[in-house]
Amino acid sequence: MPAPHFPSEFGEETILFDSGFAAPQLLPSLTPFALAALTEHREEVLQYASGRGQPHLREWLAEWMNQDGCALTPDHILVTNGAKQGIDLVCRLLLDEGDAIVVSAPTYFTAIPIFRNFGVEFIEIGQDAHGFDVDALETALDARAADGRELPKLIYNVPEFHNPTGATMSAARREALIALADARGIAIVEDSPYRQVRFEGPDEPLLKALDRSGTVFHLGTFSKLVAPGLRIGWIAAEPAQVARMIQLKSEGGSSPLIQRIIYEFARSPDFSAHIDRVQAAYRERRDCIVAAVARELPEARIAVPEGGYYVWLTLPAHVDGDLLAAKAGEAGIHLIAGSRFFASVGAEVPRHHVRLAYSYTTPDQIENGVRRLGAVYRSIAGQ
Ligand code: PMP
Repeated sequence: MPAPHFPSEFGEETILFDSGFAAPQLLPSLTPFALAALTEHREEVLQYASGRGQPHLREWLAEWMNQDGCALTPDHILVTNGAKQGIDLVCRLLLDEGDAIVVSAPTYFTAIPIFRNFGVEFIEIGQDAHGFDVDALETALDARAADGRELPKLIYNVPEFHNPTGATMSAARREALIALADARGIAIVEDSPYRQVRFEGPDEPLLKALDRSGTVFHLGTFSKLVAPGLRIGWIAAEPAQVARMIQLKSEGGSSPLIQRIIYEFARSPDFSAHIDRVQAAYRERRDCIVAAVARELPEARIAVPEGGYYVWLTLPAHVDGDLLAAKAGEAGIHLIAGSRFFASVGAEVPRHHVRLAYSYTTPDQIENGVRRLGAVYRSIAGQ
């Protein structure tokens, strides 16, 4: 299957709704922080560094998450090369070939091949407007237990501004998920890259903040809030598990230079101003795409996300999202067919969805792209 496109491959008429690239206009100026890192901290940033991550950044991250309701020390934090490496490390820690894991249906499509690398069996659980369906999970776990089958080892979910659906789990669902996972002894992997990219409404509690028994592996990243090219994220987990994952993270540790640049930026006054800009700009793009879809594809249902980078379109049942994505791609409008976000393969995979990312495209490109998408839609939906 084709990977999302890199913007540099295309001219201006091409509209990239397929990838979760950052808006180029929002990439912060990190030059002063890079200069300070390379002069004032020259030896620190150019030497080998600790496998668990730099103490200054781990301290800052623990404090940052504590302001968000957690009770962490720097020993709970492992710095990673982005959230994707976080997913990989948790799998290395917890999984053996043939283990079952729980994912939402649909789920973050890049996580699917990572999980597949570990030879897992997928248990897919649906979602609604309140996010992951915990009752359905309980029913599935009961059925497995009744059949004498092993319980899954982990539950992977994106609790806020879900990729791809945009749904956010309610506080009640989060409490219920923690209680269920605790009762059955199953780890939760909370992948939360969009947490600060919230446009409205109050924060729901982090699963990690509700975690009383060390069940939750929280995955964070600077990719969506600051810049994906930095390739720095983190795992927050029990110190004993962090210690084991350091052994599994065998690439020599994440770059101390980039960690220092991020730390200097994060503790500067520029950081909160940057967060405000990010929220305002992506809110404008979200509003723009929601209005454009309502106008140009009135038959598509769209759940308005309170944050994040994506909208998920539910098309009439007879409209094939794979075909729409393919035809739109030929017309220079790139988006991703919904079927790619399901871990299962075959006839039962729903094909009447598509995902549009609004993060990379300007409001003008969104208007232009959705108008042209509407024309492609009408050509295949027989209107
Ligand atoms: N998890 C989710 C749910 C994502 O949407 C993304 C980015 N598209 C990632 C992880 C990847 O994050 P990173 O760049 O930190 O590897």
